[in-house]
Formats: sequence, C-alpha cells, structure tokens
Amino acid sequence: MFLAQKSRKMGAPVPGTVHQQPQHRHGKRARAMPKILIVEDNELSRDMLSRRLRRKGYEVLVATDGQEGIAMAQRELPDLVLMDLSLPDLDGWEATRRLKKDAKTQHIPVIALTAHAMSGDREKAIDAGCDEYDTKPIDLRRLLSKMIRFVEDPEAAGTAGGEKSLA
Ligand code: MN
Repeated sequence: MFLAQKSRKMGAPVPGTVHQQPQHRHGKRARAMPKILIVEDNELSRDMLSRRLRRKGYEVLVATDGQEGIAMAQRELPDLVLMDLSLPDLDGWEATRRLKKDAKTQHIPVIALTAHAMSGDREKAIDAGCDEYDTKPIDLRRLLSKMIRFVEDPEAAGTAGGEKSLA
C-alpha cells in the first residue's frame, strides 16, 4: 500500500524502495528511512534539528522531556535517539539509563547532546549508556557523521530526493 502523501513529498522514489508501513512493525523494518527520536526540551533547538534531519530524509519523532522520550522510545522503537542531557524532571542521563535497562529499548543507539563541552559530561554520558556524544550548538555535518555509524544515510540510499524544494 502506498502512502500517497509521503510519496509525493519524497519526489521520484527509487524503484524497489520499500515504503514505510507504520501500522505493521516487525523485527526487520525497512531501513531506507531511519526513524530518529529527538528528546529536547528547547523548542527552538528541537524544531531546527527536526527540520534539518527531515530534509536529509530521516523520519523524525520528537519528545520534550525524559519521561516522554522513554515512553516514545518504547512505543515507536526508533533506530536512533538524539538525547539532550539537560532536561526538566528526568534528565537525559537518567532517561538513557532507563532505556538501556529495558530489554525492549536497550539495543537502540543513543547519542547524547549537551551544551556543556566539559570533559566530565562526556564521561557521565558514556557511563549512563550513551553510545556517542556531541556538543551544542549542533554542527549538522559533524552530527550526521556520528549518526551514520548507527543508521543508514538516507541521502546515500537515494531516498531523500526532493529535499531541496522543501528548503
Ligand atoms: Mn535542554
């Protein structure tokens, strides 16, 4: 079944490209459009990063605090989590610890994002179970280079066509 709206947005799809089937999730989902969960309380940062990643061809989900991030990760099983560490109530370290303790979500790579470029932060993030670490303000090229260690690059896979017209 084709998702009319999505196909239109994506421009000319590559023949044989598997369209995402949100209603049926099984072990091996289509890898063409990696699903990224952004957990970030700052609206401006969240909107900017999600827009830029969508333009690169990623499917993007957002959560605004640690609790929501955990709930969404459990429900949506994203391919990667971008976790702001400084979050209200439940911070990014604790949210990551919980994701990594849960058998359902512990395989999901987590890249920690922090505005504090202090060395202790990185160590704390790795201790909490984060797989990678990057600093804010976001340097998209640098972040993408870290992301592709864990998820496919949609542009390289040829599924991010039409992004320029969406700019
Ligand atoms: Mn924050």
